[in-house]
Amino acid sequence: GWKRQKHRLVVQPEGTDLLTGLAHVHKRKVFPCTVISVENLQSEASSRATMLVRLDTAGQPELQYLPGDHLGVFPANRPELVQELLECVEDPPPADEPVLVEVLEKDSRFPGPKSWVPQSRLPPCSLRQALSSFLDITAPPSPQFLQLLATLARDPADRERLQQLSQDARLYEDWKWFRCPTLLEVLQEFPSIGLPASLLLSQLPLLQPRYYSVSSAPDPSSAHIDLTVAVVFLPTDGQGPVHYGVCSTWLARLQPGDTVPAFIRGAPSFRPPPTPEAPCILVGPGTGVAPFRSFWQQRLQHLQAGGGPLGSMVLVFGCRSSMLDHIYQREMEEAREQGALSHVLTAFSREPGTPKTYVQDVLRTQLAEEVHRVLCECGGHMYVCGDVTMATEVLQTVQHILVQQGGMTMGQAGDFISELRDKNRYHEDIFGL
Ligand code: FAD
Repeated sequence: GWKRQKHRLVVQPEGTDLLTGLAHVHKRKVFPCTVISVENLQSEASSRATMLVRLDTAGQPELQYLPGDHLGVFPANRPELVQELLECVEDPPPADEPVLVEVLEKDSRFPGPKSWVPQSRLPPCSLRQALSSFLDITAPPSPQFLQLLATLARDPADRERLQQLSQDARLYEDWKWFRCPTLLEVLQEFPSIGLPASLLLSQLPLLQPRYYSVSSAPDPSSAHIDLTVAVVFLPTDGQGPVHYGVCSTWLARLQPGDTVPAFIRGAPSFRPPPTPEAPCILVGPGTGVAPFRSFWQQRLQHLQAGGGPLGSMVLVFGCRSSMLDHIYQREMEEAREQGALSHVLTAFSREPGTPKTYVQDVLRTQLAEEVHRVLCECGGHMYVCGDVTMATEVLQTVQHILVQQGGMTMGQAGDFISELRDKNRYHEDIFGL
């Protein structure tokens, strides 16, 4: 909990640099990448953007990776939002002066009265740095946080409503899901709240890293990591204030030379098959194609190095329309021409003059035999990457295909897929869990 009399800020002689600070806050090693380029892969006419972000790892061994792995990225909050929040603080320390929170408590090591003990959650840093890089200022405040805000509201009506929201779980959920309010929007909704800096520094949750599938194959001649990043903004229906996804917006705005604090998270269950002859089907609509670009690049390298024969690799991609968001179209075509991909099939959900088609429709109408052949006859692999709804529909479609093509019952087909999972032959990489 937080109490005004029990928390104070103490100015520190020195601050902390970003990477050391992140390592302190998250208790893990964090490595600097340098932005080489950021490029929008969608057409200018599209209302959305997908960025190809290329990062230089400078050959740091800790940033070595394999196809299928993820890069954890520590973003920063939007400077405009940080500035607006700083302006709401009632007792701001100089915004750029390093401070530390101290708590008045009994130190179990010593007898005697309570004393001021430095809080170790954050390193010595300025309020601006904390709100930019260490603290989550966009997630809707928790009920516990609203409870604290209630004690700080001067207007009894504000206090009462905040109390209600913090205590009535149904009310809270409705309020939270209606517009997903950020802390700043809560302060605007309840303007009588006086916001102390020590409350922010000690109570806001930490800003968590976001994960991105590595979108390039490791290349001994150039130490880089590519990411394929969909720029998130909500809501898209024009109702309520626009929220920009913290990390995707931050990445999209980076300039060459900027630093991205990052780390590799291995994904041993989403690697290309151990035997390159095993046939594969890859299903990745939109940014779900991200890891598969590392797969086909690795196979291109294999072919260019004169490696042995490769099993078939069919890619099922999906997007809205050929003119707007058919990302990596040329690269997929080239990979197919050179034999790294055997076929590329694309499902368009909003192509003028064509019925709505999703990746699972392509599997059902064009690849049923291939799915059966790869999974039941050839010991092959299936990879599915993207959001959970799509992955569930693909799974159900595969189950139906096994029933039709393999003469199984639904139960048998379900068990068969579970076995494939256990044997690491049905692979899923779900975004957003
Ligand atoms: P955030 O700031 O985290 O905001 C996004 C979320 O905020 C929304 O989903 C929603 O829940 C909520 N929200 C905010 N405002 C509103 C509102 N007004 N209404 C409703 N909801 C709201 N992404 C890629 O682009 N490429 C990848 O290769 C990729 N790989 C991934 C791999 C894994 C293993 C995982 C777990 C995720 C992956 N992702 C990938 C997703 C990525 O990690 C991020 O989740 C994504 O970029 C969004 O992060 P953000 O910080 O931009 O958005």
